[in-house]
Amino acid sequence: MTRRCYSDEPIASSTATLSGSEAHHLLHVLRAAPGMPVTLFDGSGAEFDAEVTACKRSTVELRVLRRREVNRDLPLPLTLGVPLPKGDRQRWIVEKAAELGVTRLVPLVTHRSVVAGEKHLPEKLRRYVIEASKQCGRNRLMQIAAPLGWSPWLELPQTGGEQQAHADVRKWIAHPGGRPIAVGEMGLLQPAFIAVGPEGGLTDEEIDAAKTAGWEIVDLGPRILRIETAALALASLVAFPSPALS
Ligand code: SAM
Repeated sequence: MTRRCYSDEPIASSTATLSGSEAHHLLHVLRAAPGMPVTLFDGSGAEFDAEVTACKRSTVELRVLRRREVNRDLPLPLTLGVPLPKGDRQRWIVEKAAELGVTRLVPLVTHRSVVAGEKHLPEKLRRYVIEASKQCGRNRLMQIAAPLGWSPWLELPQTGGEQQAHADVRKWIAHPGGRPIAVGEMGLLQPAFIAVGPEGGLTDEEIDAAKTAGWEIVDLGPRILRIETAALALASLVAFPSPALS
């Protein structure tokens, strides 16, 4: 399998130039040399067979040989809202959500969230998405939305650009004591919005507001899961439809 590299610039001609961390990795970790085959992607949905033509001090030049439209996305958009924990756990959620095919991740600011307004958060999270996409083969990057408070999150299915009528969108919030769900009943049959709460849990007021806004409150079993486990369990239940639904 050839090495996948991400190009920040849209690839629209028979040449491409990589710079920054992508070039650094090729030059100093992989010891790239002219002739080395590389698969490029630029987030547009296509991937490109390419080969290195020149290695400069901080850039790598490539010849683009072939463009292929390769779709590894979910059939319908899946938006995950999650109050991000700190450090490695944050990175883990973002990477695994990208691998599972989540379309858009929204960092939530809830009453008991621990991370709010962290400096450079969008760039940091985007870097995790690129790394995960290089590894898993996605050719469209999972979008990272600006952090949202609870009320704007609850309204997002109406305001977020899916343009589906309210009734066409599934909206689930995981909360202990919610309606028990079974694996077979989920599945991405409509655009879906799913959310989990912070380590300290969602408040009664937040759950009441969600119910009033038409969200379904679902239970993920008798064990209390950490944020990342809950987020990825819920995303998996939606991303992998049961055979009965597919
Ligand atoms: N004591 C908190 C509570 O009761 O909500 C636990 C919070 S848990 C560590 C973090 C989040 O994961 C919760 O807000 C919820 O969204 C989700 N979660 C964890 N376990 C769950 C379960 N068994 N059922 C539904 N949601 C769960």
